[in-house]
Amino acid sequence: MARYNKKYRGLTDEEVLKSRERNGSNVLTPIERDSNWKLFFERLTGPLGHFIPGWNNGDALIFILEIAAILSLIVAYLESGAKGFSVFFEPIGIIIAVFLATGVSFYFERRANKEFMLLNKVDDEEKVLVIRKGRYTKIAKKDLVVGDIIILTPGDEVPADAEILESTNLNIDESTLTGEPSCRKSAKENDFDPEATFPTNHVLRGTKVLEGHAVCNVFAVGDHTESGKVMEAVQLEDSVKTPLNEQLDRLGKYIAYASYVVAFLVIFGRVAMLIKNLDDGSSWYDFEHIDYHIQSVMLAVAIIVMAVPEGLPMAISISLAYSMQRMLKEKNLVRKMHACETMGATTVICTDKTGTLTENNMQVYETRFYALEGQRLSDDAMSLIVRESIGANSTAHLELLPNGTFQPLGNPTEGALLIWLAQNGADYLQIRSDVEILQELPFSTEWKYMATVVRSSNGKRMLYVKGAPEIVLRMCADCAGGATEDEVRRQLHDFQNQAMRTIAFACQELDEGENVISKHAVTAGRLTFLGIVAIADPVRKDVPAAVKECLDAHIAIKVITGDTACTAKKIAHQIGIWADDEDERHIITGPEFEALSDEELLEHIEDIKIVARARPLDKQRLVEILQKKGHVVAVTGDGTNDAPALKQAHVGISMGDGTSVAKEASDITIIDNSFSSICKAVLWGRSLYRNIQRFLLFQLTINVAACLTVLLGSFIGTDMPLTITQILWINLIMDTFAAMALTSLPPSREVMTEKPRQRNAFIISRPMRESIAVTGFIFAIITLFFTFSFEHIPFYKSWPDLIAKGLSEIKYLFSGALSTRHIEQYEHGLIFTIFVMFQFWNLFNAKAFMTGKSAINMKGCKTFLFIAAIILIGQILIVTFGNGFFEVKPICLWDWGIIILLTLIVVFGGEIFRLYRLFRKRRKNK
Ligand code: ATP
Repeated sequence: MARYNKKYRGLTDEEVLKSRERNGSNVLTPIERDSNWKLFFERLTGPLGHFIPGWNNGDALIFILEIAAILSLIVAYLESGAKGFSVFFEPIGIIIAVFLATGVSFYFERRANKEFMLLNKVDDEEKVLVIRKGRYTKIAKKDLVVGDIIILTPGDEVPADAEILESTNLNIDESTLTGEPSCRKSAKENDFDPEATFPTNHVLRGTKVLEGHAVCNVFAVGDHTESGKVMEAVQLEDSVKTPLNEQLDRLGKYIAYASYVVAFLVIFGRVAMLIKNLDDGSSWYDFEHIDYHIQSVMLAVAIIVMAVPEGLPMAISISLAYSMQRMLKEKNLVRKMHACETMGATTVICTDKTGTLTENNMQVYETRFYALEGQRLSDDAMSLIVRESIGANSTAHLELLPNGTFQPLGNPTEGALLIWLAQNGADYLQIRSDVEILQELPFSTEWKYMATVVRSSNGKRMLYVKGAPEIVLRMCADCAGGATEDEVRRQLHDFQNQAMRTIAFACQELDEGENVISKHAVTAGRLTFLGIVAIADPVRKDVPAAVKECLDAHIAIKVITGDTACTAKKIAHQIGIWADDEDERHIITGPEFEALSDEELLEHIEDIKIVARARPLDKQRLVEILQKKGHVVAVTGDGTNDAPALKQAHVGISMGDGTSVAKEASDITIIDNSFSSICKAVLWGRSLYRNIQRFLLFQLTINVAACLTVLLGSFIGTDMPLTITQILWINLIMDTFAAMALTSLPPSREVMTEKPRQRNAFIISRPMRESIAVTGFIFAIITLFFTFSFEHIPFYKSWPDLIAKGLSEIKYLFSGALSTRHIEQYEHGLIFTIFVMFQFWNLFNAKAFMTGKSAINMKGCKTFLFIAAIILIGQILIVTFGNGFFEVKPICLWDWGIIILLTLIVVFGGEIFRLYRLFRKRRKNK
């Protein structure tokens, strides 16, 4: 059975274009979604949506508000004869505000969702190994066309429907299509299974290669593939709930219940005030008061609309979309949304060595072939054995780049060996076509070697083995060139002490019919040791700094590697997690690890820094034990058999060039494979959480302030401190604008000096609760004070006068003394602006929350400043031009100045508080 021994030419550029024109490209057309208009109007329909075919129910609260607005339109119509057109302003204002608030939040939510969809498209960019114009090359999955020759290796996801041309031990997981987790596939008619759902010689898009290799010819791409036909099944959900989402959903419900109570009390208070003020002999339920009652109901509903944090899901969508987008720029592709936030709670990172800590740029550093003593590689019979044991006992390929250098395709270790062959004048393709491959045991991290039985070009049946030296040594009966085992071990030790990866080679001439490869092992035991190759793979330059950052962030790092203890220690030393005085307690090998019981491991697990010669199942167990210890664990993996560990971990991190099985099992894919990108994911995870906390801090402060203002207001005066349209504008500020401003703040480095948060900790921390209660209360009291003062002075003259009079009258607050007059529109404008400006400045405080920086430090806060400007300009426009709708009159410049200065206290207060905290923290650290 020969492997890749025919020369496939593949398609030319022109043929690719023609094929694409004729058969389409390899992308799936997304399912048509509902139009945005429909989705928008759906939100406004409330329960009526249920009665329209194909529609969903909309927001019930918005619906109540609409009904209230229509009722008030009717009342306004009845009153318009007597009072003129101005009575329409308020109901129209409410309707506009409802549309605006729903529209703006709807727009941003859609946009965030769209970004998720775009991010998911990256999947189409996955690389596929093909033969085109007679050369091996990698292309994006979406660029495949019908007629392409593809090469499948273990762990690959089949990129399109294809016919197998030749294969070795091919086993495919077809569970995505047929539910069959393991299917034998073959091009040979003898192997055909007539019962199989799909032909035995077909591989189908979306299924996965479990083992074996194949060369296949693509016959269907994109929508024409089997998985394209059942597209719905593989469509990604619009959004998935993360644990934080769920926590916030619960919080949202509590807030909503609280707001119902407040709303009820507001209605109650207003009725009480009406009864108290009735001086014309009418009763509170007479028709002449209907307008007042509708107003009360609308106010109550407006309170609920404002208090219910509809902005929260949007805030999370925006911050997740923003973080995901920025993380993608920093080479983190988030596959499962919860990973963004969980990364921020990570307490341990278990990392691979090769490719993650090292460059995966493998180069043969030195060879020590005892078989070649005194000979050159291209010379005689012995060197033929060395050539074949490297060139034929391998699954990698080389791509010849235009600059004449080689790029390894497939296993990088084997790639480095093939390049070394090429540099020494041996062509691996020639070697492979000169031999006939009879049997093969592919490399696996499980058994750590690879073996191939070939009919050598000299006609002999040969077994070639290469792999971890201590394992290969165990199979050998002697060593070529007369070297002793001690000599070999000394040499190995020497290489490993230089952080080298070592591979040993051995061979055995077989008798005809002798079978030496059983399912997962070589059974031969008379091999001859040929030699060792030391491969250098330097530590990535940015890794030591990233490791330090993680350690500073109180995150433990554990290296779990298939390499030897000696090499692993060297690398660990180079990246900064292995000090000179570290002892054997901190390192364990795979077999030792396996021998320990869970209880013993639980006791030692915190000490272990390196697991060397590890097998994939050790990784899963390590994760499990750490989780039992209460850690939040992130783990990296690139191979198919890393999938259980990746699934087990809180955050599974796959590598950009890992197998698609690993990627599928993971939550994040690190495109550049580098550890420093993992560190950035922690930074983003922590910042995301902080930003949502900031948003909550801001929103809940307004909630408390507005609810208290309206609630207490309904008991102390005849006029409402804030009107319905005003409340709706405040709602827009906090739900939409604040969500945008605060959730897209850049990450602050400060978070990387703190301890990881508890994974299930309540997001509203104690300092937040205190701040919300105190600030919200102060805002409400000040707003109410001005409302009260306006009602209790004959006319508004100046601020000092107002304050003095207000203070002198305050004793009447609880004595039931009636207000002397209604609040003028100008004064309404002042109260409204005071309230909004408090929130405006508080936005700056929220921004500075837990950053250890001043609120006026605006570095990297462009979006924030832009949105703050919109709020300020919006407020100026409303007060200046919105008189009818918002019941205000333009405020003079002088009063603007006073209000801005007065409310600026919020920032000053915040700054003093932050300084105090900083001071306390420093003292504590001393
Ligand atoms: P890490 O787990 O950190 O990525 P690693 O790549 O060294 O480390 P494995 O892939 O399990 O871990 O490799 C273990 C050992 O197996 C290597 O040290 C090397 O000796 C040997 N080895 C690696 N790749 C091959 C291969 N393609 N063929 C034969 N032996 C190999």
